[in-house]
Parts: sequence; C-alpha cells; structure tokens
Amino acid sequence: MAGPTSFEEEYNMKLGIIRCMQTEDYCPGSRDFRTIRERKGAFEGEDDIQLVGFINCGGCPGKKAVLRARSLVEQGADTIAFASCISKGTPIGYPCPFAKRMRELVQKEAGDSVRILDYTHDAGPEPETSQK
Ligand code: SF4
Repeated sequence: MAGPTSFEEEYNMKLGIIRCMQTEDYCPGSRDFRTIRERKGAFEGEDDIQLVGFINCGGCPGKKAVLRARSLVEQGADTIAFASCISKGTPIGYPCPFAKRMRELVQKEAGDSVRILDYTHDAGPEPETSQK
C-alpha cells in the first residue's frame, strides 16, 4: 500500500510552517494546506508530508520565530517553511521586512540538518483546483 499507515512509518518530509501573525485575520492558512495536499508550490515532487505544526511568528519583528522554530523541531520537523505571507506578502501585499533576519536566526537555531523553505505557494489569486 502506498503512503504511511502509522505514525511510526517514515515521512520524507516532516514539516513545520511559520506564518505572519499580521495576516491571520485575513487568512486561516487554507492555501498553504491546499498547496501541501496538491503537492504544488514549494512541495512539488514531495512524496509523503507530515505537517507537525503551523504557527505564527509572534508578531513584529518576529522575535518569537526562533522559539517557535525550536518547538517545531522538538515536534520532529526536519523542514521549516516560511509561509508565503512572509516572503511574498500574500494576501495583504506586505512582504515581511524582517524576513531575511528571521530566516538567518531560525536556521542558526534549527541547525544545518533542518531544511528551510522560503515560501509555500505562489503569489497571486487562488488557482483553479480539483479539490475544494
Ligand atoms: S515580523 Fe514579519 S512575519 Fe511577523 S508579523 Fe511582522 S511582518 Fe508578519
């Protein structure tokens, strides 16, 4: 049978997502979840993905991102994605001015064994999809 059948089985990606706190009133993360489900955007070509956490940066200037990245790693994340609200400014048209520094600090905290993704999905309007 394809895919994992229990939590003990291996996933090829254990994913934690850090998002922008400012955008939470406008976006519950649906497009991220859809992008993961459809293996598009930053997840194209990935096989099995286990989402271990989805958390915001803690607010400007993103100081809690490091602490929260640590908790994602403690939950087993081997990949941390900065959601597109941070790098691309979706959906409010305001890319995070602290993104570069936040990424550097998170990578330092998480270590080189943790892969960092700089976005989740493409910018722009919602794509057509077969799954609602
Ligand atoms: S630090 Fe960046 S990601 Fe966090 S709330 Fe501010 S603009 Fe959003």
